[in-house]
Amino acid sequence: MKVLLVDDAAFVRMSLKKILNDADFGFEYVEAGDGEEAIEKYKIYSPDLVIMDITMPKVDGITAVERIKEIDSDAKIIMCSAMGFQEKVVDAITAGAKDFIIKPYEADKVVKSIKAVLKLDEE
Ligand SMILES: [Mg+2]
Repeated sequence: MKVLLVDDAAFVRMSLKKILNDADFGFEYVEAGDGEEAIEKYKIYSPDLVIMDITMPKVDGITAVERIKEIDSDAKIIMCSAMGFQEKVVDAITAGAKDFIIKPYEADKVVKSIKAVLKLDEE
């Protein structure tokens, strides 16, 4: 499975990758550093899952989710944001995100969210 990691901070994408590698999902990774790049890479790679930051240059995460859902209404997107931006949860879910996680990432919460969104425990 392919996962698109979207965050303007490279170290955040790296820490996410470490969590996902440690959890043995066996994902292939595609990365984007802003919302515009995320939309482009979604079109090219059709990832099975997107993990999307909110605050980013050019196109923010909420707008990117709306655009990706227009391209693929079945897109599975987990939104994430730093502590203190919880009011964005509603915007994210309205835009079409399936779940919301708070940074800094806690490995068990990230893994649980991914399993729920991809319905991995049901197989
Ligand atoms: Mg950011």
